[in-house]
Amino acid sequence: AKRERGEALSPEDKRPINKKTMAQLAGIFRFVWPYKIPFAIGLLCLAFSTGTILAFPFMAGKLLDIANGKPVPYFTTIGQVALALVAILALQALFSFTRVYTFSLVSEKSLADVRKTVYQKIIWLPMRFFDSRRVGELMSRITSDVSTLNDLLSFTLAEMMRQLLTLIFGTVLILFLTPSLAVFMLLTFPVLVLLVLVFGKYIRKLSKQTQDKLAETNVIVEESLQSISVVKAFTNELFEIGRYVRSMNDVVATAIRTARYRGMFISFAIFTMLGGIVAVAWYGAMQVQSGNITVGELFTFVLYTTFIGASIAGLGDIYAQMQRAIGASERLLEILDEKDESSSQSASEAIKLHGEIEFQNVWFSYPTRLDYTVLKGLDFRIEPGEKVALVGQSGSGKSTIISLLMRFYAVEKGTVRVDGTPVDQFNLSAYRKNIGIVPQEVILFGGTIEENIAYGKPGASLEEVKEAARKANALEFIESFPEKFKTVVGDRGVKLSGGQRQRVAIARAILKDPAILILDEATSSLDAHAEVLVQEALEKLMEGRTSIIIAHRLSTIKKVDRIFVIKEGTLAEVGSHTELTKLNNGIYNNLLKLQLQ
Ligand code: ADP
Repeated sequence: AKRERGEALSPEDKRPINKKTMAQLAGIFRFVWPYKIPFAIGLLCLAFSTGTILAFPFMAGKLLDIANGKPVPYFTTIGQVALALVAILALQALFSFTRVYTFSLVSEKSLADVRKTVYQKIIWLPMRFFDSRRVGELMSRITSDVSTLNDLLSFTLAEMMRQLLTLIFGTVLILFLTPSLAVFMLLTFPVLVLLVLVFGKYIRKLSKQTQDKLAETNVIVEESLQSISVVKAFTNELFEIGRYVRSMNDVVATAIRTARYRGMFISFAIFTMLGGIVAVAWYGAMQVQSGNITVGELFTFVLYTTFIGASIAGLGDIYAQMQRAIGASERLLEILDEKDESSSQSASEAIKLHGEIEFQNVWFSYPTRLDYTVLKGLDFRIEPGEKVALVGQSGSGKSTIISLLMRFYAVEKGTVRVDGTPVDQFNLSAYRKNIGIVPQEVILFGGTIEENIAYGKPGASLEEVKEAARKANALEFIESFPEKFKTVVGDRGVKLSGGQRQRVAIARAILKDPAILILDEATSSLDAHAEVLVQEALEKLMEGRTSIIIAHRLSTIKKVDRIFVIKEGTLAEVGSHTELTKLNNGIYNNLLKLQLQ
């Protein structure tokens, strides 16, 4: 339900670790499966390197025993033991290297696969999905959620195995080697475990709060930067800065509170751990004195206890990281489970439509606003090659008509037909290839002008692109740039003027060569010269195509075959400019009067 309302999910949602959530985590492991061999090698190396680390205290103890003149099996001199220790270290280094390398390799490769799959999924999702999601939220699926999983695969998982192995085998070893000391020490464990549980819970709660607050500051940055021109136009820089500073101070306050608990936790933990060791050392020293154990055995034992203590402390952290990873994988799988449009867009034979459009009793409301009916029984028919202008107040439903024609949404009731066939019966890609759009706000992609024009027909030759640019009255300005068609535009390149951008969009549409053309007139007017160039190009583009113009200016409307006046989702008036101006008190007449004022 939270998703339906379009609220961003906190990236720090904590998930309980149980059968169900573990199954979700396992769902992500299907991406690791292709790399199972290096993964298995990594696991083996991990076990071996943990093993060599565990051998270390044992050998170090032998070193002391030889120094104290105690007989030691297999070794006679300190030098031999030292050499064995070096050999153990070298093995450990080799295993660690292989482990880190293979785990990183597996996680980088499999998570790149996750990113590719999720991106592919998102791009194929239907329009209504994007109505209820914020771009920033989707971005964080691909970036931060996948990063969390990266931590899991390349680090957390290995750490968890290492800590568990150290804990289990370390305990078994001390129980086996020096049972009396081991039992004594195990008594301090419950204190440590209790500490981890109690403090861990508080700290996790607080760090979630910190994360939430941080997410809030990010929203402020995203919002203000996305509409930076609005911020500046209203000279609200100081207001935005104030918002951000307040929000950031909140983050710091929460983070400091967290730090207090974290500090207490760490100091208590160290105190308990070292206190346990002191107690064991005291008890052990007495055992050595009474000759029950050797100095070497005591030393070995103390080293093992520190290892075991550290692994218990480490497991607490790992638990929290596992929870985060479960949250991340749940959100990723959720997106992967959405129904996308790729199957209805799979490669199919091209369709060549003539461009007859018919709306039959079309009713529609947006999936995010089902209680509000936008189109109410719309009925009309547009002949192939006809030019129609949609006029009406903003919010009357003009863009919605276009969205339904584009099949961005499915109609609720009634039928949209093109060339007599209900549109939902066509292959979606093949169908959309027959519709060209020159939008109100032309969006250029970062890249060259050539690439931007060729967006209308991927793979078009430079010759085709040039020809389209010529027809779109764009050749002249493009060739005036030093790099001509290779000029980089967009964020990191040349900024094109409104009129130039429109002509690039017209060239795109010319390349696409669609049967149906949609023009969403720019509301902001161009200077007279640019206006003439754009109008000329548009007229060339419309020739021989069914054209629907969302009209804002009188000049265009006069030339179309028919005008549809849309009012509150219904067709209020239909006719040519002359016909409609003859209607007394007609809506069209009133709109005209408003514009003339
Ligand atoms: P026009 O193009 O005539 O200005 P629209 O077709 O854009 O009007 O909008 C018609 C109605 O539908 C408006 O009330 C608008 O708020 C609503 N609307 C438009 N797009 C969406 C959407 N994606 N989700 C929910 N409501 C929408």
